[in-house]
Amino acid sequence: MDLGLRGKVALVAAASRGLGRAIALELGKEGTNLILCARGADDLESARQSIATNTGVEVHAIAADVADFPQLQRLAAESMMRFGQIDILVTNAGGPPAGVFETHSWDAWARAVDLTLRSAVELTRAVLPGMRARKWGRIINVTSIAAKQPVDNLILSNSIRAAVTGFARTLANEVATDGVTVNNILPGYTRTERVEQLAESAAQKEGLTPRDIVARFEQEIPMRRLGEPEEFAALATFLASTRASYITGQSIAVDGGWIKSLM
Ligand code: NAD
Repeated sequence: MDLGLRGKVALVAAASRGLGRAIALELGKEGTNLILCARGADDLESARQSIATNTGVEVHAIAADVADFPQLQRLAAESMMRFGQIDILVTNAGGPPAGVFETHSWDAWARAVDLTLRSAVELTRAVLPGMRARKWGRIINVTSIAAKQPVDNLILSNSIRAAVTGFARTLANEVATDGVTVNNILPGYTRTERVEQLAESAAQKEGLTPRDIVARFEQEIPMRRLGEPEEFAALATFLASTRASYITGQSIAVDGGWIKSLM
């Protein structure tokens, strides 16, 4: 299948590691030129070099914290200066902190809104006019299984991913006649540094090993294993492609069957 991605330009947020990096690599393999962002310039530059070497596409790196509005505006402006247009936007960020209701002051809620919701909204605001004018665009938000089935101890993620889902589902309708699709991808437990860190901190608290904690995650998953970042990136790449032209407003999980609902 020709995905029609050669020569397009993608901005992939939070892409020095994990899911964002895996998406950037797969898009690069399909010939898409890339802009990557993350907060730490050193890790980001090593991701940039590795992806450029492995794919041969043009890859630019812009260090920025997507939770900080002025940095988000600079990221959007510099991205447009580099390539003149963005065809594919992947919104992504680190996860909001874990905890139950009593753990989080309103300041923590506000920070999580900036990180998870505002970053998706404002990056979209920056790229959407060009997409609509060219009558082609793809907006893909990395959310979480928490958007469909709440995860214990993650009240911030469970709540704010729902807001991103509502934003994307509504926007999908507003831009549907302009050739712009808007979709969310919901990772289940996927083997990235975030999951390794979660397993390590849970292991320390409970006097277990990280392997014990991962085994517990695996027991919850019908496939009895974690996902791999490239399995997640495969769906992102398809949704970004010209072949996914009739898929919009969807929230699709890549979770080994973890979400138990019918739809
Ligand atoms: P990760 O920690 O492995 O990688 C996160 C990436 O985001 C890194 O490149 C980091 O530098 C960058 N980043 C973090 N905060 C940033 C910020 N404020 N501005 C710019 N860049 C930032 O995480 P991951 O596993 O790839 O997760 C990506 C997203 O998917 C997160 O929101 C996470 O909550 C969500 N998620 C992940 C899983 C999983 O199992 N991996 C499951 C459900 C949801």
